[in-house]
Amino acid sequence: MAEIYIRNGFLLTMKGEGLGTIEEGAVAIDGSEIVAVGKTAELDKSYMNSKKVIEAKGKAVLPGFVDVHIHTSGTITRGQGQDVPEIEWMLKAMAPFGKYTKPEHSIAGSRLGVLEGLKSGVTTFGEIGGNTIPVTENVFIPSGVRATIANTINEIGPGSRPDANKPYIYYPDVGEKKLKDAIELYEKMDKKGDGRINVIFAPHGADFMSKETLFKVKEEAKKRGKLAHMHVAQGGREAIQIKLRYGTTTIKWLDSIGYLDENLIAAHCHHSTDEEVEILAKRGVRYASCPASIGIIDGIVPPLALFIQKGGKYAGLGSDQAAGSTGHNMLIQLKAAALLNKTRHADPSILPTWKTLRIATIEGAQTIGLGDQVGSIEIGKKADVILIDLKYPHLTPIVSKPVRNVAPNLVYYARGDEVETVICNGKIIVDDHKCLTMAEEEVMENAQKAAEEVCYAAVDDYMAADSLLAKAVKKGLL
Ligand SMILES: [Zn+2]
Repeated sequence: MAEIYIRNGFLLTMKGEGLGTIEEGAVAIDGSEIVAVGKTAELDKSYMNSKKVIEAKGKAVLPGFVDVHIHTSGTITRGQGQDVPEIEWMLKAMAPFGKYTKPEHSIAGSRLGVLEGLKSGVTTFGEIGGNTIPVTENVFIPSGVRATIANTINEIGPGSRPDANKPYIYYPDVGEKKLKDAIELYEKMDKKGDGRINVIFAPHGADFMSKETLFKVKEEAKKRGKLAHMHVAQGGREAIQIKLRYGTTTIKWLDSIGYLDENLIAAHCHHSTDEEVEILAKRGVRYASCPASIGIIDGIVPPLALFIQKGGKYAGLGSDQAAGSTGHNMLIQLKAAALLNKTRHADPSILPTWKTLRIATIEGAQTIGLGDQVGSIEIGKKADVILIDLKYPHLTPIVSKPVRNVAPNLVYYARGDEVETVICNGKIIVDDHKCLTMAEEEVMENAQKAAEEVCYAAVDDYMAADSLLAKAVKKGLL
């Protein structure tokens, strides 16, 4: 007997090197953990009298998805920052919203981002942001999801960036305050929510702070046995800054100062040469790749497949931000990752479906340091399990020979709304496609209200910044 018993499903456990498929498979969950995995005929003998029995015939049963790099609070600016040159994205399309965004707006945005991810099967969020204590208290803990959370640390103040072609002006007091906030987040929130919250540290990027502060942050993380999660080589803006300041590229500079190692999760890394990707792989850096977001805001395919080819140990997929992306739905992210990387390499055999699904689950969990807890369906692991209904025209037919096509159908055809049940830490938090921990209508209404407040307040600043998107608006093109 267990608390939850899932039977007769098509299990993709991620155990071993491939998908770890078990047809007519079953999983038993007790407390927060998986206590049995195997064939239904076998497990039925011990678990048919469990408190809740879930019939999973015609359903795929997977570990919950891991979104390794996400900024949920930005979800209220969805659609406000795309189709602009990369150099304009942050300074002309995103910056105008910053000064009107209040803590309650980031909470509303974060709740929407988590709801979106959760409903499409994400159980672990690699959140980076500001205002993280209230967001953790009001969103991540009550929604029942798992998260690695980091408060962004930089030395950027209001007057830091008068000219993108001159070195940013750093404010050490800003850096100190943000590091203090990050430590406070760790002290107050680490291991909260029945252990679902894992606080790590986020130096914003090599262009946003001094070398001394970069090291200080990594030291504070290491002292607490935590990883550092940083944006690395994230585009032209950063490349200009690093060249101005250090006369080289981000990855080469970080390598020269000994910053690249297995304690670093490096996000993006798309402004890089093949040789630099090899350096990242060799140093054991963990790679958070966000192909859809970077494709849209930079017009570049990040080197996910290349990193793997070069021997990179851990790589995961992130949805990043919503203002110029495809959103926080991992089944959409899977398609973007596969399509873009196949195209980048002009090689359709790159990122086969079994690998893409592993990257979105077990390898993503390993990337953010949770590989021993989640990412696969195995005895002793935390029970983060999702059920995906396969009875849709676009997922039909399902056959088991010669190729078991469940994985290809999920990676290339699923939309995300087929996710029927989400279990996190042994608790059912989405049941029959409905979220049990958040009032969905209310979440959307609040996010709508927050977006109207922020976007409408920022209109004059946004139009004055005159990005290519603002120009299109002025011309009445959208
Ligand atoms: Zn990011």
